[in-house]
Amino acid sequence: MKTAIYVRKSVEVKDSISIETQIQMCQNYFADTQTEFEIFSDDGYSGANIDRPAFKRLLKKIELKCFDTLVCYKLDRISRKVLDIADIFDLLEKSNVKFICVKDNYDTSTPMGRAMLYFASVFAQLEREQTAERVTDSMLNLAKRGCWTGGPAPTGYGIVKSEGKSYIELENENFIKDCFNLYMQYSSLYSVHKILQEKYKITPKERSNIRRILRSPVYVQSSDMVNGFLKKHNWGVVGEPNSKGYLTYGVTKGDNMAIVSRHKAVIEPILWLNVQKKLDERRESYFKKSSKVYWLSGILKCPCGAPYAIVNSCRNAYYVCSNRLKKKCDNNRYVNAEYIEKEVENYIISNSQNFDIVYQKEDTPSAADEIKKQIEDNNRMVNNLVEKIALLSNEASKALITKIEDLTQENKGLTNKLEDTKLAEFEINNSKFSKEFVHSNVMKFNKDMLPEEKKIIVRNIFKSLEYDPKEDTLKVEFL
Ligand SMILES: [Zn+2]
Repeated sequence: MKTAIYVRKSVEVKDSISIETQIQMCQNYFADTQTEFEIFSDDGYSGANIDRPAFKRLLKKIELKCFDTLVCYKLDRISRKVLDIADIFDLLEKSNVKFICVKDNYDTSTPMGRAMLYFASVFAQLEREQTAERVTDSMLNLAKRGCWTGGPAPTGYGIVKSEGKSYIELENENFIKDCFNLYMQYSSLYSVHKILQEKYKITPKERSNIRRILRSPVYVQSSDMVNGFLKKHNWGVVGEPNSKGYLTYGVTKGDNMAIVSRHKAVIEPILWLNVQKKLDERRESYFKKSSKVYWLSGILKCPCGAPYAIVNSCRNAYYVCSNRLKKKCDNNRYVNAEYIEKEVENYIISNSQNFDIVYQKEDTPSAADEIKKQIEDNNRMVNNLVEKIALLSNEASKALITKIEDLTQENKGLTNKLEDTKLAEFEINNSKFSKEFVHSNVMKFNKDMLPEEKKIIVRNIFKSLEYDPKEDTLKVEFL
């Protein structure tokens, strides 16, 4: 008889039974039997996979039917994965090799023993997963309570200690606000970085850090809309929005998790969401080259819908319809660049006087909040009714049950309505925001700005800008 002994010890501390003890226990099992041993030992390897040198050699020899029996101290020495174990059992069976687990007393020569062994491995894996879950749960609980669980504080925040726990605390509100507002204004990480460097002594060293700040949910006041956005972008989101910031986990591992926490956040959801939108757009247009000097290029369009292109001729620059050469457009005028840029400048400046501010700062009561309250009231009523039913006879409780059913039905309808209302309110808030945004850009515009700055500002004001040279008219649409 030939017996293979497999022993394994991982580097983990809790995995504490020594290789020698394992071998000893396996050999003791065969004290009364005449057998020849071959020992396969993986010292310092984890059971998380089967990528272990001695184990691989063992599998090969089992395949070649070199043994009658395989013995190990405990099932988890072979593998910690149910699927691996199932595969290995298949191989053992095919090669007619008996399997013995000294500690657990499994004997695979009977169907019952095989089933027991399989279930044991399933439960072992389940237990490990639950342990992992418990660890994650306790991390989440800490985060929900606002605890900082390690690492340097996010830019603009500091770490404070209280009763043995760490928390993050807002230190530089203006810096964070500037970061988001400047990006909204300039749409350029480079410009934001430059301005911040001039204004603040301590700034992130690299531009990519600005992007990290802008992308981080740490700075935004939690809301339903932000939760929705994060979920849509593959974040795991935990907690009910409470206008405080989120703490994030697993960002470096690509397993993003945002937890509604307790630290003060200063970026309003609408601004944060608009910055995300802009970052997404900029990423798409990153490689597109654009003319630097003629600030209407790209945004100024011909009545045919095509953008004007810049043509240089005799030291003058002209905007000409880019469809003109394809003969799809009969507008063949050369529009003097200086002339039309001045026209647009005048248009913006004359408009700044009577630009209509629709934006209202005061908060109107939200219809969504009303519906939410109604749903909560109904739930409370249902709970009261349930308590009453417990005290009543079957006959007497019938009416209450009907009432409960009605309320539950009503809440279903209200929940749907709530989703629709939230969406509608977001649209309204968003348009309020963009009106204020356009207005602030109109006010900021002046003739002495650099063309680069003008170029950015016109894009923050107009959705489209159409010039008809035959009529000499400007048709505009605001953002
Ligand atoms: Zn045209």
